[in-house]
Amino acid sequence: MDEDSRMIGLTAATLAGLGVALLARYVLALPEAVTIAALGLAYLAGGVPAGIEALRELFGRGKLDIDLLMVIAAVAAASVGAALEGAVLLALFSLSGTLEHRAMGKARRAVEALMALRPETALRVLPAGGVEEVAVASVALGDRLLLRPGARVPVDGRVVEGSGSVDESTITGEAVPVTKAAGDPLYEATVNLHGVLTMEVQRSLAESTVARMIALVTEAQAMKAPSERFSEWFGARYTVAVLVGAIAVFAGLLALGWALPDAMYRAATVLVAASPCAVVISVPAAILSALSAAARGGVLFKGGAALEKLAEVRAYAFDKTGTLTTGRAEVTQIVTVDGLSEAVFLAQLAGIEAASEHHIADAVLRHAKALGVEPQTLRDVLAWPSEGITGSDDEGGLWAGNQRMLTRMGAQALPEFEAMRQGAETVVHLGRGDRVLGAVTVADAPRTTAAAGIAALRNAGVSEIAMMTGDRRAVALRIAADLGIRPEEVHADLLPEDKVRLVDALAAKGRVAFVGDGVNDAAALARADVGIAMGAAGSEVALQAADVALLSEDMQRLALAHALARRTARIIRQNLSFAIGAMVVLVVAGLFFALPLPLAVIGHEGGTVLVVLNGLRLLRDPIRVS
Ligand code: ADP
Ligand code: MG
Repeated sequence: MDEDSRMIGLTAATLAGLGVALLARYVLALPEAVTIAALGLAYLAGGVPAGIEALRELFGRGKLDIDLLMVIAAVAAASVGAALEGAVLLALFSLSGTLEHRAMGKARRAVEALMALRPETALRVLPAGGVEEVAVASVALGDRLLLRPGARVPVDGRVVEGSGSVDESTITGEAVPVTKAAGDPLYEATVNLHGVLTMEVQRSLAESTVARMIALVTEAQAMKAPSERFSEWFGARYTVAVLVGAIAVFAGLLALGWALPDAMYRAATVLVAASPCAVVISVPAAILSALSAAARGGVLFKGGAALEKLAEVRAYAFDKTGTLTTGRAEVTQIVTVDGLSEAVFLAQLAGIEAASEHHIADAVLRHAKALGVEPQTLRDVLAWPSEGITGSDDEGGLWAGNQRMLTRMGAQALPEFEAMRQGAETVVHLGRGDRVLGAVTVADAPRTTAAAGIAALRNAGVSEIAMMTGDRRAVALRIAADLGIRPEEVHADLLPEDKVRLVDALAAKGRVAFVGDGVNDAAALARADVGIAMGAAGSEVALQAADVALLSEDMQRLALAHALARRTARIIRQNLSFAIGAMVVLVVAGLFFALPLPLAVIGHEGGTVLVVLNGLRLLRDPIRVS
């Protein structure tokens, strides 16, 4: 039997026992033995498993569970002849525990559901023609798979044949289908809608986007938010205090000359009233709900800590290429010198870029492919973040990159490239030693959602926006103008360490988030209070360094995630103040105003359920742009 049905069964039995006892005593006036038997059932189902569990916590792990207080209070009530009141306590306690478990399970399951979406088999295309059905685990890199309409994509890869549209909402949270043609990436667990596609496997199952998401979520569960840690810490200390306090009340009342049953009843009431169930549950209820709502919208937080910090962020720094701009840049112009043919030039440039994961490399490779140019094979290829890339062929060293790379190589910018270098597109020079062989311009366009996302952040009270890029200032300004980013907010020609320095400067004024995608952003992502990586398209290093992964390409989600974080912080504050306030009222009433035990129980359990429900409100706020 699973945990869920076990809990439901026990709660049902407890409620039934209480119900029968009430009927037998007050409505049907049956012999007292019936009532006692029914109460016995309620105590057995509602108290014994919880009591054993709590004792195991106490002796096994040295943790005093709050549940133990409830059981002790019920037993105390029964021992002074208030067995019915004790049963009410156990029934409500069991009911709220089950509700809580189910509610929290709902929040947790949203992401675990992803695992269920991973297909188990794939259709492998046989070299001789035809297909065979194989287990996904046995699919190898480079295999070709056939995707029929309606099929889930079994692994990450690229379309090689056919075209159609794919529903990527499992990963990005975006309902709009994405059109796919040869060369486009496909992600595991997304759904091929209409077309028949042939795909090539490019990532092993363990490294797929979904696997990375699952890893992130598992990691997330280990990283508790500060307020979560506070409520746990508080809960643990306070539970001991409550137990000691109740004993003190009991002893004190006896000393004042109270009768034993009265003193015991009063102490049990105080025990229930003062138990911090609501305080302990109020934070995780809100955080889990928010994390789950965010995940459904394609924003993955690596834990509650990142969520809480994001709520306080007032400055956002963005990388340009691949973050504010789409990952799909285009080669717009080619200039070569000394009569070098474009085809030879492109074969060399594509050859050296073939090893790079930069968007520039992607553009060059696509361009070469479109022109039917086969990239040359190169050795010893080395990436220089924010500069370019170097390698060698039979004739010697070859390099590609920007002005920094030119300077490093002692090369001169020839007049032929002057027009390009004055323009507002990224210029990539190809050179050998100190000779420049030619250059291409690569243009990237802003993401369609970036302007709206930035505007929404500013509206939400984000006071500082900055663009930080390794690209030239002219290019950066062109993109910035489209996005409503002011020239003074643009920082160009940066090396990775410059980004860190600028993030540091912003951090001096308040919490900073850095949004980036590349290898050259990893340091800044790690340095920022909240590092946000472009997940599905970004580099693995960036994802590792970040606290949040944005799987959707939609920048408006970032603003929504920010709003969600702030709402979560507000709900946590509400919950904590309500829970502590209610507890104080109940304890005072219990100590000085002869609060009846059933009322204490109802106030206590009711408060617990209320804070859980208040937290669950966040679940209904998936990050979605209407
Ligand atoms: P951003 O910070 O905007 O993401 P990068 O720091 O990744 O940009 O790149 C900055 C510049 O470095 C690019 O505009 C380009 O000139 C050069 N560069 C980086 N990687 C490469 C590469 N693989 N090939 C050629 N040039 C590159
Ligand atoms: Mg980038």
